Amino acid sequence: MSARVTRARSDRTGLITAELRLIRVHILGSAAGGGLPQWNCACVNCVAARTGKIASQTQSSIAISGDSEAVQRWFLINASPDLPRQIESMPQLQPGRDSPRSTPIAGVLLTNADIDHALGLLLLRQQETPLIVYAADQTQAALAWIDSVLARFCGIKWRKISADFQSLGGSIGFRAIELPRSVAFQFRDDTSGATALFAPSVGELTEELREAVGGSDVIIFDGTFWSDGELAIVRPGARSAREMNHLPIPDGSLDLLRQSPARRKIYTHINNTNPILMPGTRERAQVEQAGIEIAHDGLEIVL
Ligand SMILES: [Zn+2]
Ligand SMILES: [Zn+2]
Repeated sequence: MSARVTRARSDRTGLITAELRLIRVHILGSAAGGGLPQWNCACVNCVAARTGKIASQTQSSIAISGDSEAVQRWFLINASPDLPRQIESMPQLQPGRDSPRSTPIAGVLLTNADIDHALGLLLLRQQETPLIVYAADQTQAALAWIDSVLARFCGIKWRKISADFQSLGGSIGFRAIELPRSVAFQFRDDTSGATALFAPSVGELTEELREAVGGSDVIIFDGTFWSDGELAIVRPGARSAREMNHLPIPDGSLDLLRQSPARRKIYTHINNTNPILMPGTRERAQVEQAGIEIAHDGLEIVL
């Protein structure tokens, strides 16, 4: 981005164009399913969040826009059950004042069919026109129940995703990187070529994903669990991180992100049991020493 802005500064018209067309990413929610605090959880982190010692987090979702500020349309990547609250916390996602009912939300992209990624679709049911939803065929099939509920309201217009870049409107191109039981999305600013990767559910570091991590300017990555058995500590018999399609942080992503030349590397979709949420822990220090940020709700990134 800095090269581009510098270039644009040499030319007044260019400066205006660059400033208006930058891609903006806004982290609406940074927690895994359940949020922080989770309603039925009294783990160390949930108690700390309830008592205001650490910041609360809503469930994972980002908003992205590549439009000029005058006519901003936003796409959501995953629609969490916390969506209404997230919209109220971000003025750019709220209806314009020029008509009684409107929304700048142009569509939703889904990484998979998990409840914490898809339930928010139901909460957009008052929309006048069908919701535009980009998803893999398996995700669409798994969400047939949401499809049939919404058919009585606005309905859903499903759009295909592809391994090749396609336009998402404005200057944004995007492509899907197939993973086991999920996809990651890579976004590209078609003007500058800058890229951002959003991968909140990573059960395996595939070759294609590794390449995308090595070639993206901004990486927002699965930081759900620190250890494989983390959830069983608070809920005996709970599935392991890997069984829930999340690679524990030290088992690969920590090294991969440390070595990536990306300008910003950020863990998101963090489960409330994860020790990286607590300042001062050994685990958090390891993440920070690797040059990786820990997402918080409201974090904004300009590509
Ligand atoms: Zn999730
Ligand atoms: Zn908890």
